[in-house]
Amino acid sequence: MRTPISLRIAAPLFARLSAHLFPGDLDEHGAIIVAGVASSDRGTRLLARDVILARDGVDYVPGSRGYRALSPRFVAEVAHSCAAENLAYFAVHNHRGTDSVGFSPDDLASHERGYPAILDILKGGPMGALVCAVNAVAGDIWTRDGRFPLDHATVVGPRVRTLFPTPRRRPRAADPVYDRHARLFGDLGQEILSCLKVGIIGLGGGGSLMNEWLARLGVGHIVAIDFDKVSLSNLPRVVGATRWDAKSFLARRESAWLRKLAWRLSSYKVNVARRVALAANPNIRYDAVVGNVIDEKTALLLADCDFLVLAGDTMQSRLVFNALCQQYLIPGVQIGAKVTVDKTTRQVTDITTATRPVLPHPCGGCLDCHELILPDRLQEEALTADERRAQRYVDDDEVAEPSVIALNALSAAQAANDLMMMFTGLFDEAVALEHTINFARRRSPMAVSGRSNEDCLDCGCKPRSRRARGDRVRLPCRTR
Ligand SMILES: [Zn+2]
Ligand SMILES: [Zn+2]
Repeated sequence: MRTPISLRIAAPLFARLSAHLFPGDLDEHGAIIVAGVASSDRGTRLLARDVILARDGVDYVPGSRGYRALSPRFVAEVAHSCAAENLAYFAVHNHRGTDSVGFSPDDLASHERGYPAILDILKGGPMGALVCAVNAVAGDIWTRDGRFPLDHATVVGPRVRTLFPTPRRRPRAADPVYDRHARLFGDLGQEILSCLKVGIIGLGGGGSLMNEWLARLGVGHIVAIDFDKVSLSNLPRVVGATRWDAKSFLARRESAWLRKLAWRLSSYKVNVARRVALAANPNIRYDAVVGNVIDEKTALLLADCDFLVLAGDTMQSRLVFNALCQQYLIPGVQIGAKVTVDKTTRQVTDITTATRPVLPHPCGGCLDCHELILPDRLQEEALTADERRAQRYVDDDEVAEPSVIALNALSAAQAANDLMMMFTGLFDEAVALEHTINFARRRSPMAVSGRSNEDCLDCGCKPRSRRARGDRVRLPCRTR
């Protein structure tokens, strides 16, 4: 078991659990969290997939030794269904109090009596118990390798909250460089940003802006993924890219051979992005990955991120990004700018930019539920260049899309603000993180209200959906 161990739970699920545990009667109530599991060198994340509420007096009953306990029938039913679905099991109850919480000796004794048997049903776990106060949570996590405390719980919503067993220590004073930040979101906000790991998929126009802004915000760790190099026509858009990066003295030559050489010698976009990020924050940890997120090995580098940015616009990258958000309970945002051009007249018909937050729960902005992952485009992208030519997609391929940094900035700026506001708790309580489309020619933004398809295999609640399953299902990546 990798430590520290933490729990991630989407805000609507946590609200349902809290309403059940704290109805205002100051009494004890019980429930079971059913969860997936994900491990990396940052620790183990328990990913809440569902909460099964124990009915008072039926499933949560006076105990023979403690005050109350989950009924043996309820425990057995849920444990067996977890085993069948390959999910982990965590019994939850509440204590009084607000900012600190811990198990009672009765609680711990009951774990020692009951958990070895449940651990067997669950093929070694992890499994265990959580105890909640209004603003605190503690855990006793069991595996075949031993018993571990829960370090913290993260509630993933428009305001990302972290709950600990006892109040967190005072944050260290922010570096004077961040004085103006700290005046907005405090030393604590700056410390939270410095602990974030953010993945950026695509380091072209929009991605390179996000990269610089997040580095300047003080985000502690960035994983940048792009297989592409800087070319002449990227120079006006890719932040930090120089003529030297594009080997422009060769790329401008007539000779095809010299232009090929220019391409061979030019810089990868992720390496330019690393240079920019290190200039903005010399303390940043930076993983520049030359690769494609549609390869599983590359996608899995993002599975333990705290936030994901999708700034590369293929359908396949949307598919993998959306799956990562839902499967690993990672909030994210897709950004993009689109200029539509009439094919015959070559006139610009519309200019739109989009900022699409994705939260890991039904109606959370799932790209699939919003019909933004188009099956025919996915199929088309899966073809090789030769196959595409044979199927006459090639016309579209050869026409490079218009692209301008100011448009990229429209979508990226909202996304960077969303990230900052989410993690520093600055959003209003009632904010809805809706997709935003900006119609640049009319200068008018439009919010797209949330949509959900209950059969969705990414965000839905049906048994086959990938939401919160973590390492126990495969990502929809290419295998060849
Ligand atoms: Zn208790
Ligand atoms: Zn969905």
